[in-house]
Amino acid sequence: MNKAAPGSLLGIEHLEASEILRLLALARRMNPRKPRPLLRGKRVLLLFYEASTRTRSSFEIAAKSMGAMTTLVLSSGSSIEKGESLLDTGYTLQAVGADVMVIRHPNAGAPLLMATHLDIPVINAGDGMHEHPTQALLDAYTILRHRKTLKSLQMAIVGDIYHSRVARSAIHLLSKFGARITLCGPSEFLPEVATSLAPGLHITRTVEEAVRGADAIMVLRVQKERLAGTKLRLQDYISRYQMTMARMKLAKRDAILMHPGPIIRGLELTWEVADCPQSVIVEEVHNGVPVRMAVLAKALGKAR
Ligand code: ASP
Repeated sequence: MNKAAPGSLLGIEHLEASEILRLLALARRMNPRKPRPLLRGKRVLLLFYEASTRTRSSFEIAAKSMGAMTTLVLSSGSSIEKGESLLDTGYTLQAVGADVMVIRHPNAGAPLLMATHLDIPVINAGDGMHEHPTQALLDAYTILRHRKTLKSLQMAIVGDIYHSRVARSAIHLLSKFGARITLCGPSEFLPEVATSLAPGLHITRTVEEAVRGADAIMVLRVQKERLAGTKLRLQDYISRYQMTMARMKLAKRDAILMHPGPIIRGLELTWEVADCPQSVIVEEVHNGVPVRMAVLAKALGKAR
């Protein structure tokens, strides 16, 4: 298999801790409010086979605030609808002059396939149940604005972990820095081999146990159609796993409440929790821009 072009970001799993720290340090120097022409003349291709609000818009704003041009290709309205293969779409977009490709795809491994066949760097914007590396980076960036270090951070992740690329990337990242992570959700939503994912990973069945003493709580979106595949009724899920203010109080007093979005108020968390002072949900979105600026700058060899 060919190697991915330098600067590609396909996942967190195979990144060195030092590379992660370098990207976070670069992100801290990025300011979308003070545009820099670092990527002037560069073409950023955003190829989205799945819905996206935060990731897509923040990649676009990140690219534009560094002077790059962006082109958005969605699966609907493109030749993908006519049956064009993933790689043929990739070759086409490379041929029109893309300098870097940002791709979201429902299948795990789609960005890797692109990266090993194209000559341009490829950035994974979420692939199936596999990884969402820029989300993990922005989550780490956000945590580090509230905590000095990730080492010994006590993190609770609650919800549909099994299907979540966000959880997978976060677990890879946080465990590289010695965080202690507790997963909690119905058994159908927990990875079968969770403990092989990372050392320092624990599973609890009650949300109270998971959040007790936590520094950070990450709540994940629950899709009703997936819940229908479990033994739980919606109301049971809500009473057992929904993040409420009472449950939040079991965490450290200054614990932060995270969620990658989109949030479903009244399901995985209450309205009150979503808007409480400890909630950093909006801050995560905000931090996505400088983090994606750093990732794009690195991809295009401008990470100075
Ligand atoms: N926005 C995140 C993702 O694309 C989380 C989610 O959709 O639940 O993976």
